[in-house]
Amino acid sequence: MKLTIVEYPDRKLREKSKKVEVFDEKLHKLLDAMHPFMIKTNGIGLAAIQVAYATQVLVLNIPDEDGEQPKENLLEIINPVITSKNGSTVYQEGCLSVPSFYEDIQRSETISINYQDRDGNTKTLDADGLLSIAIQHEIDHLDGILFIDKLSYSRRKKFEKEYKRMLKEKKSSK
Ligand SMILES: [Zn+2]
Repeated sequence: MKLTIVEYPDRKLREKSKKVEVFDEKLHKLLDAMHPFMIKTNGIGLAAIQVAYATQVLVLNIPDEDGEQPKENLLEIINPVITSKNGSTVYQEGCLSVPSFYEDIQRSETISINYQDRDGNTKTLDADGLLSIAIQHEIDHLDGILFIDKLSYSRRKKFEKEYKRMLKEKKSSK
């Protein structure tokens, strides 16, 4: 299964992802392709919509203290629902779908979620730190929301200008 990243401003990223109803081979193939793709592209989280599959599927692999992303830390999250959130934190976020841009974004500090694993088993997870931030970022993707949507009006304006310039440069260097 060959995956390619969908990049802003592609409208595909605005699509709302559908709930997974069938936990079959097709889902497992997608998950098995998403994880190595995310590692290869230096991501810590990836939503299926970012590789053009509008289903509620996320993979996350938060680096450990050595910056490694061992597979035993891999989290596969299907049909997530945030059941509680607390506190507030700011972190400089980036996104594989908005390459080369990093911005301070405010989110809840801790969250609890319900979700299903690749076999459809119901799970709960309490997350804090970078994992909490990454899960909130990825769940936003399922609703068609990008981290740049959370910027102030003036920061967003500045972003659009810089991003357009970058796209132009990319094109002319090809
Ligand atoms: Zn993202």
